[in-house]
Formats: sequence, structure tokens, C-alpha cells
Amino acid sequence: MYGPMIAEIYDNIVNKGFVIYCRNGNTIKEIEITEKEISTFENNLDEYKEILQGNYPKGTKYKSKCVDCCYKNICIK
Ligand code: SF4
Repeated sequence: MYGPMIAEIYDNIVNKGFVIYCRNGNTIKEIEITEKEISTFENNLDEYKEILQGNYPKGTKYKSKCVDCCYKNICIK
């Protein structure tokens, strides 16, 4: 998520990022940001926006999944 946000703010291409693990000796891992990941992020963002506008996703047809779902008290299934 940070890659596309930084790209938009600074109007530049972001194709990698870094994760720093502070425990165990401050290990740094380089993460490649691919077009596929950016596309997935944008699709997920569109889905979040739909929900914020009140367009909720359909409930599952597998009711056994609802038993221990944390949303079952507010779900509009
Ligand atoms: S209760 Fe949970 S699992 Fe069941 S339809 Fe709603 S969101 Fe999906």
C-alpha cells in the first residue's frame, strides 16, 4: 500500500520497498513491488470504497462459516 501512495504523492515510480525487522539484529529485507501487486491493491481499494459507500458484499452461502465469524452480529446476510 505504501508504494502506490508514495508514487502518487511524489509523482514518481516506486518499484521496491524495504522492511526492517528491529528484533534479531535489525535485518533489512528488500521487497519488489510488481504491477500485479499494484493492480491487486487498486482492486482491493475499490472494494473498500464500495463498502464505505454502503454497498456491502453478499454473505457466504456456506452458513457454517458464520458460526464463529466476528461480523455475525452486524452482518446483513
Ligand atoms: S456472518 Fe460472517 S461469514 Fe457469515 S455471511 Fe456474514 S460476514 Fe460472511
